[in-house]
Amino acid sequence: MRIAIQGTHGSFSEAAARRRWPELVTLPCREAKDVVAAVRDGRAEAGCLPIENSLIGSVTTTYDLLEEAFGDGTLRLTHEILYPVHHTLMAPPGATLGGIKRVLSHPVALGQCRLWLEKHLPDVELVSAWDTAGSAEIVAQEGNTAIAAIAARHAAEPHGLRLLAERIEDDPTNQTRFLTFTRSDAPALPPAATQGASRHKTSVIVLIDHKPGMLALTLQAFGVRGVNLMALQSRPERSAPWTYRFYVDVDGSASDPRLAEALEEVEALAARVVVLGSYEAWVEGSRLSAPPPTPAHHTRKPDIPLVDRRRQPEGSRVEVRHLAFGGERPVLIAGPCSVESETMVLETAAEIARVGGDMLRGGAYKPRTSPYDFQGLGVKGLRYLADARERTGLPVVTEVLSWEEVAVVAHFADMLQIGARNMQNFTLLRAAARSGKPVLLKRGAGATIEEWLMAAEYILAEGNPNVVLCERGIRTFERATRHTLDLNAVVMVGERTHLPVIVDPSHAAGVRSLVVPLSMGSLAAGACGLIVEVHPDPDKAMSDGAQSLDLAMFAGLAAKVHGGAPGRGGARLAV
Ligand code: PEP
Ligand code: MN
Repeated sequence: MRIAIQGTHGSFSEAAARRRWPELVTLPCREAKDVVAAVRDGRAEAGCLPIENSLIGSVTTTYDLLEEAFGDGTLRLTHEILYPVHHTLMAPPGATLGGIKRVLSHPVALGQCRLWLEKHLPDVELVSAWDTAGSAEIVAQEGNTAIAAIAARHAAEPHGLRLLAERIEDDPTNQTRFLTFTRSDAPALPPAATQGASRHKTSVIVLIDHKPGMLALTLQAFGVRGVNLMALQSRPERSAPWTYRFYVDVDGSASDPRLAEALEEVEALAARVVVLGSYEAWVEGSRLSAPPPTPAHHTRKPDIPLVDRRRQPEGSRVEVRHLAFGGERPVLIAGPCSVESETMVLETAAEIARVGGDMLRGGAYKPRTSPYDFQGLGVKGLRYLADARERTGLPVVTEVLSWEEVAVVAHFADMLQIGARNMQNFTLLRAAARSGKPVLLKRGAGATIEEWLMAAEYILAEGNPNVVLCERGIRTFERATRHTLDLNAVVMVGERTHLPVIVDPSHAAGVRSLVVPLSMGSLAAGACGLIVEVHPDPDKAMSDGAQSLDLAMFAGLAAKVHGGAPGRGGARLAV
């Protein structure tokens, strides 16, 4: 197989390509654009170019070539190769370090040895050459003992040069990332020499219009689908000053449904998108194998729904830190409706932990009926909850209202709550599932059991099995209570699904005095946990005061639920 490389024999590009395909024949080219031309014309089956160095960053000449080279779809990327780069200073026989006046090498190599050169050869003239091996060739031809080259160790011997210093790169972990490419219509390259699991990456160029938020929206298309952004690089658009092209590397192959969906969205938002290719990422000991393509926008329906009890007749357990929903012991979640202030949440959490609560709740983002009501403290509230967890050991569940906030809420919380109003917000369900955090899925006030279970199915279908259902009352003709607790559903859902079910008697009743009796009734009906609202001074609560237990009432409930045994929440109780 013939591979076009930039540089002559003995270059790092050649050594890198050989790491993949030991049997290759190289076609040396002077410049990166000549490597591209050789592959386009069919003079070489593949090309190999350096794209990034771990010390000095991007190889901008390669980046700047990509749009022109790949824009018409003739070429596609095939592999990534990482190659450790160790530099050697070499000169004709008789040369000494002290006598060197000029050093030649590729500018990237000179950059990688900057510290060593400043220390050992502070006054030398640094001269850029086309490539490292080529600079060794020039130094050998000149035969001047005052001129040295920086190149790979193995470039010295063929040119009769002597080694003056080895491993002179500024960091021993120095390595360069190379990309290989072929014509899009070329047959697949022979398998690489290495074996093992494979991983794919996809590289894309995105040109965006100057509009507020466009870059963020483009990147969000990947993030909200759980596609990992690995690198983002901007380069100036030469024909239009102060505009930029963005080079994006993401985890996965363009045939993965989530990435395919993201790329479709990016294409719709951006002025222009060039998919450079999906290629096998470099993993030590990796082997070529294409992931099976699955159609985008559609998940195949399983014969039995994922939530169906037949799939797990013994019932599933959902673990949140050291707690388990669906085990022998009920999980008691408690906390304020809203996180109102730092002291309030810390004090309430400490008391909950002290009297036997297992987990802390509290809304930082609040779904309020009126836009003029308190909407929650947002990120500040999340920080206070995380602080409270730090001090008490209670894991934290908190509501996420929209897909845009999933990332930040998942960063702080141990479990994401999807509220009643959002039970059928399918975009939010998907985004919450993709966060990888366990999800507490409340039943919508007007949702049937079937709709509730299908909402849970969305989360499972996204690959997240950790869903706990929460019955929190449904809307009926009865006005004396806020909602009507549907204990039918608790029993029925327990028959139809393997997912753990808990009950929120606070929102079901809307009246404090009903909360303890409803809690005991729910456990008797088979709920594996409770979530109740607790406030140190319920009459002053910023939301849902009427249904919040005070601390003494909660202590009574905790004693009843855990039968006097201490809760599991507080690993560290002191505040
Ligand atoms: C809450 O838990 O504070 C809440 C808003 O609950 P729901 O979504 O059940 O109304
Ligand atoms: Mn509430």
